[in-house]
Amino acid sequence: MEQRIERIKKQLHSQSYKLTPQREATVRVLLEHEEDHLSAENVYLLVKEKSPEIGLATVYRTLELLTELKVVDKINFGDGVSRYDLRKEGATHFHHHLVCIDCGSVDEIQEDLLGDVEKIVERRWNFLIKDHRLTFHGICHRCTNNKGNQENE
Ligand SMILES: [Zn+2]
Ligand SMILES: [Zn+2]
Repeated sequence: MEQRIERIKKQLHSQSYKLTPQREATVRVLLEHEEDHLSAENVYLLVKEKSPEIGLATVYRTLELLTELKVVDKINFGDGVSRYDLRKEGATHFHHHLVCIDCGSVDEIQEDLLGDVEKIVERRWNFLIKDHRLTFHGICHRCTNNKGNQENE
């Protein structure tokens, strides 16, 4: 945790930004809830628990800055809410998501499965790819098991 904060601090410094206490409080919440795909409001409520003096506008600006600096990625799963997702360390591309249309859970695929697809796109459309978004919509394994659907086993 502290090491990751230190590295994010360096990332900000390299772009001439400081990791102010307000920004650090926001980063800590994101690290503590790394798998949760929090909205700006979710982040704000969690920041407020520990630092009641920090306002929503500050949290919002921090999230925008972190997005700009590629510390976090902003993602929308189709419900109209922007969510913030920490970029995994060393990841050059955004991880993939599995969104369950039954229970709404979001799982992550860290492995980059798009290498071959990107090569085809770059070659055929002469397009230099910098990043991608890939979200699968379907039924998660928990919901499948709950229904006792043997056919899918
Ligand atoms: Zn994610
Ligand atoms: Zn599900």
